[in-house]
Amino acid sequence: MALIVQKYGGTSVGSVERIQAVAQRVYKTVQAGNSLVVVVSAMGKTTDGLVKLANEISPNPNRREMDMLLSTGEQVTIALLSMALQELGQSAISMTGAQVGIVTEAEHSRARILHIDTTRLTRHINAGKVVVVAGFQGTSNVGEMEITTLGRGGSDTSAVAIAAALGANFCEIYTDVPGILTTDPRLVAEAQLMDAITCDEMLELASLGAKVLHPRAVEIARNYGIPLVVRSSWTDEPGTWVTSAQPQGRSLINLEIARPVDAVEFDTDQAKVALLRVPDKPGVAARLFGEISRQKVDVDLIIQSIHEGNSNDIAFTVTTPILKRAEAVAAAIAPALRNPSNPKSDEAEVMLEHNIAKVSIAGAGMIGRPGVAAKMFATLAEAGVNIQMISTSEVKVSCVVNAAECDRAVIALRTAFEIEAGGKGTRGQGGQGRIIEETSPLSPPSPLSPPSPLSPPSPLSPSTPPVRGVALDLNQARLAIRQLPDRPGMAAKLFGLLAQHNISVDMIIQSQRCRVIDGVPRRDIAFTVSRIDGENAKKMLTQVAAELGWGEVVLDSAIAKVSIVGAGMVGQPGVAAKMFEALAQHQINIQMIATSEIKISCVVAQEQGVKALQAIHAAFRLAGSEKVVVPA
Ligand code: ADP
Ligand code: ASP
Ligand code: MG
Repeated sequence: MALIVQKYGGTSVGSVERIQAVAQRVYKTVQAGNSLVVVVSAMGKTTDGLVKLANEISPNPNRREMDMLLSTGEQVTIALLSMALQELGQSAISMTGAQVGIVTEAEHSRARILHIDTTRLTRHINAGKVVVVAGFQGTSNVGEMEITTLGRGGSDTSAVAIAAALGANFCEIYTDVPGILTTDPRLVAEAQLMDAITCDEMLELASLGAKVLHPRAVEIARNYGIPLVVRSSWTDEPGTWVTSAQPQGRSLINLEIARPVDAVEFDTDQAKVALLRVPDKPGVAARLFGEISRQKVDVDLIIQSIHEGNSNDIAFTVTTPILKRAEAVAAAIAPALRNPSNPKSDEAEVMLEHNIAKVSIAGAGMIGRPGVAAKMFATLAEAGVNIQMISTSEVKVSCVVNAAECDRAVIALRTAFEIEAGGKGTRGQGGQGRIIEETSPLSPPSPLSPPSPLSPPSPLSPSTPPVRGVALDLNQARLAIRQLPDRPGMAAKLFGLLAQHNISVDMIIQSQRCRVIDGVPRRDIAFTVSRIDGENAKKMLTQVAAELGWGEVVLDSAIAKVSIVGAGMVGQPGVAAKMFEALAQHQINIQMIATSEIKISCVVAQEQGVKALQAIHAAFRLAGSEKVVVPA
């Protein structure tokens, strides 16, 4: 007998018939000898409908009232599902977040779960009842009791958090697709179902736009080692398992906020190659990285951003032993990249930097918390360390710094984030390879879980494909600030300000070229934010820029971000080249590139987003032969 948490999304409970179908499935699972907590979303598009109503009354409704309104959607479903279960002769009881005891931060519309009191849940479970819980909601009790919500899509997070609090055997997320696919089947009909994916990969995919799981749900599954499966509520197919490394024995107090950073890592075995002033037109990155991969040079971080005068800088890091080869390729290709719109202009210039180190903070708890990256930048600034390159992923922020400053940076970061010495690190001189994520074994099937198709699969095979999935995010905007003084503390100032305004930043790219204006060396910096934050961020930064002598603040809301994710791309030359080549073949210009160990993201024009996604999905041969049936 297992204790299982099942979650049913909006479409799965979108009508009376669907609620009855869900009740049947729940009933069968109990009949098979399991105990069950069922978390549900609001019916169909109810939440969207409520948001629309609110917007008809106010363009900017009060966040407390919004939570009061949106939390009603789930309350309808819990009552109806309990009734449907009772009709089947199954004893069941519905409970709101408050009744369960889901305590959150006092942050309306995006509250994080602090802890879940399982007393009442356990009592009902032991009495043989199915407990039907309203997803997406909780209460805060700082001062007076308030209803909070966890953010759109948050019922997944409610379910996994309850599974963690109860020590459930596993958590099943039932939705309207057969599981996690290589990309969104609504955009690419040939998307293929995966049997399993690691939490790290899923965290990236979820936060890069794959809507199928709330990233915070994946974060909790990873932190507490909860076996998680995504399945269709229409069929009995096994779905996709999201596998995690062994849990670290975390406390259930401050469940979602305990530790934003788990480790400080460094790598001094790195060198940087930058190409300055390459033309801003399709095919340039494809050509450069195509040649680099033919020479079997494995690149680590890649960044590219556009600048004034419509030319780009592209920079990448490699391990020191292969620097010579990387440099030779870059130097050979530079003349061919002359800017045709300005033939007299400076040929693309190659810049090398040998003495660099990469320092990173890693941890799933930094998701959606802009203050964490800002704190890293501030810590480096206080230690007098200048940041040359920044690379961000959902679970890691890496900064390239001067190698001589690496030790100082690491010590300062360990102190700031209260991390004991002894994290992962690679010292130069040896080509010992780079830091590789996720070295611990994947979790084996739990001995208590029932036999297939419900049990997690065995560890992923070693032949993990380089690219597992492709995601498209159409909800981002790009901001650029021109001519920021290049000295320690600038990134800290900028991202500290954004964090203060609760604006999460995604890709961050500092230009490689440096211009001296009024005796001060300056660089451009570009980053992406959620589109809804774009205008506010621009307004706020424009004001500050005037005071601090920064240049112009430029906002572009018509962008799309397309990303590939896969743990298998570590140490595999040619993955980036293939992605850029796919875009070049379709004449899609790349505006920004940013990478982390297991993902590569490109910003392109918004109207080309879907085409870009389809081209990349095809280039990596991710398409299956069968079409996935998505309920209308
Ligand atoms: P629910 O209401 O069940 O929570 P969501 O709409 O939040 O469902 O998530 C399911 C949807 O996610 C699918 O209908 C699909 O269109 C979309 N999706 C995006 N990327 C992926 C992916 N990689 N795999 C599966 N579904 C995806
Ligand atoms: N009903 C909420 C939403 O639509 C939460 C959820 O379904 O996960 O965002
Ligand atoms: Mg969802």
